[in-house]
Amino acid sequence: MPKYICKKCGFEADTDKWIWRCPSCGGVLDIKGKVEAPKITLGEGNTPLINFFGFGGNVYFKLEYLNPTGSFKDRGSAMALSQAQRLGIGCIVEDSSGNAGISVAAYSAAAGIWATVVVPKRCEPAKRHFIEALGAEIVEAEDREAAGNRARELETRGCAYIGHQWNPWFIKGMETIASEIISQLGKVPDAVITPVSSGTLLLGLYNGFKKSEKLPRLYAVQASGFSPLYDAIHGKYEGKPSKLADALQVLNPPRLEQMKEAVLKSGGDALVVSDEEIVMALSKLLKAGAIVEPSSATALAGYVQLINSGKIKDKEKVVVILTGSGLKYPEVISLISH
Ligand SMILES: [Zn+2]
Repeated sequence: MPKYICKKCGFEADTDKWIWRCPSCGGVLDIKGKVEAPKITLGEGNTPLINFFGFGGNVYFKLEYLNPTGSFKDRGSAMALSQAQRLGIGCIVEDSSGNAGISVAAYSAAAGIWATVVVPKRCEPAKRHFIEALGAEIVEAEDREAAGNRARELETRGCAYIGHQWNPWFIKGMETIASEIISQLGKVPDAVITPVSSGTLLLGLYNGFKKSEKLPRLYAVQASGFSPLYDAIHGKYEGKPSKLADALQVLNPPRLEQMKEAVLKSGGDALVVSDEEIVMALSKLLKAGAIVEPSSATALAGYVQLINSGKIKDKEKVVVILTGSGLKYPEVISLISH
């Protein structure tokens, strides 16, 4: 049986019960040992890796927005809800600004598990409607931080806390993306650029690529005003808080130390993009036929910065991860495309 492990204090335990944080030091847990593929599946993963017209043959886009609920989170939800079901858990609670909530609601439905999702007040209405339509109960909180606190209060009333920012199974489920990229590209790319909020995808990429012969440089793109990883590496970024990157508004990611290690050990970097850069990137993507959400367009905006600064060369093979679907909120897309 795989084990929970805390890399900070050395805590280890069997995975025969639900633990989402280290009971000894309060830090984040990881999973050690071989883990079976998720039993609860909606067809997540194996997303296409393609070139888009107008971006050059060395820029590959990984279409994570084509996952069953329109975001990369489905990889983590499939794993986390499969494990919850294995442990006989009947109800779960999650906090999310939208995409994780939709994903966890869908996989809970597939697993026959009752779900409550705590959302911040400013959650996109369309995302909120999806969560409800999938059968989950919605609880509202003031902001993203308050949503996390409220979800953990509900946990003490008997529901297992998924907490994708913390959950070691969720992170584990993300790893498949790395081996997919290698097999689709036929090699490890030189660089991978991904939007980053709580770091689940970044860490999935890092842990997944660590199993291969080399690590690509991992570039983490954050939105202005929500850049804890950038700040931890370069010092505080002063900029107008993004209104567009609603999926990236995490200020205190619990895995910040791990995120920093992933970026620095890979030889990559953390970047910050503004709403103006997001609009330009989103517009380019839409015109190439990619219906993604503004938060996903940060990855392309980051690519443009890296090309302009010379940190990425034209001849390098680069993978840009497009994380979430724009079909979930047409209002935002229509604002941008006019
Ligand atoms: Zn610990």
